[in-house]
Amino acid sequence: PEGSPPTAVATVSQYACQRRTTIENNNKIFTDAFEVLAESYEFNENEGPCLAFRRAASVLKSLPWAVECLGATEDLPCLGDHTKAVMEEILLYGRSLQVESILSNERYQTLKLFTSVFGVGPKTAEKWYRRGLRSFSDILAEPSIQLNRMQQTGFLHYGDISRAVSKAEARALGNIIDEAVHAITPDAILALTGGFRRGKEFGHDVDFIVTALELGKEESLLLDIIDRLKHHGILLYCDYQASTFDISKLPSHRFEAMDHFAKCFLILRLEGSQVDGGLNIAEGDSRGWRGVRVDLVSPPVDRYAYALLGWTGSRQFERDLRRFARSEKRMLLDNHALYDKRKKEFLAATTEKDIFAHLGLEYIEPWQRNA
Ligand code: ATP
Ligand code: MN
Ligand code: MN
Repeated sequence: PEGSPPTAVATVSQYACQRRTTIENNNKIFTDAFEVLAESYEFNENEGPCLAFRRAASVLKSLPWAVECLGATEDLPCLGDHTKAVMEEILLYGRSLQVESILSNERYQTLKLFTSVFGVGPKTAEKWYRRGLRSFSDILAEPSIQLNRMQQTGFLHYGDISRAVSKAEARALGNIIDEAVHAITPDAILALTGGFRRGKEFGHDVDFIVTALELGKEESLLLDIIDRLKHHGILLYCDYQASTFDISKLPSHRFEAMDHFAKCFLILRLEGSQVDGGLNIAEGDSRGWRGVRVDLVSPPVDRYAYALLGWTGSRQFERDLRRFARSEKRMLLDNHALYDKRKKEFLAATTEKDIFAHLGLEYIEPWQRNA
């Protein structure tokens, strides 16, 4: 900014949306430890320190160099006394006692195990833990527990869903969705989003955005795709959520994390023959297919850029985009829109570049958003 003295080294911004973060992480020994700490605070519903460790991890991920001494972190933002103490321990002894004690803690281990099931969040995991349940067989043998449809599916497909999805598998699923979308609406728009758009090698699911050029047609599009996948016999699970989006109500609702677009959370059956180099399955698994989690979201075409930006992630990148908009620009950003509170108006965008420009940010490519 004007007025400030020139500095020799570019300073690292406190906002992830002003940093370029590729999938190459030079500080994994620290960021893995921070993630354990963040998760542990999350399980204890202690949001402050949880976010602080996630923010610190995100800063270290953006560095093109490895931190080799604490002095090197002096000019970095978002690193507090606690984070620095953990880093110092790791630099000295290669490990953090606090992290090790969390990893061997029964409550942490159990909540981690339970939340690894599709459809089980921290609240449910905690409830089961308080009832003395410690393993999957404890849960499945407990007659008073009523699993919902999502959780039943989670247990049924546990092996497949907890196994990472490879890039080749994501590509094969892209072909399947592409065929379905364009058989229904030839001029529909389909885009890969989420972690694979950011260039990740593996993901927990594959995320797509679909929209129709004709406004309003996008909702039936999603239902038609689901029908087609069912007809092809590859739909193992489908949770469809109709759109609750109402542009006339913006911004009366608070700008929020969850969006109101039509979407579906699926598990699809992927055949080994469809994947270059074969499936990512356990050795000795001879089924020849696996289940894969797929998310489809279907915004109206005039919301496409906002939806794409919102679904590309990472979660930390999104958090900081919103925080930057609010704190630095007096604007409100979510997956639907950008609102300028000073001018009292919505800002239109047809591309992600438009949105970065509205915010006065340099454009950050999807593969640089792995914050
Ligand atoms: P992974 O490889 O683990 O899938 P990811 O970055 O793709 O990593 P996802 O959980 O698939 O993670 O989420 C992708 C993006 O979509 C995130 O930025 C998240 O904010 C957004 N997102 C996910 N679920 C919803 C939802 N129900 N409503 C709105 N946005 C969502
Ligand atoms: Mn994803
Ligand atoms: Mn997803």
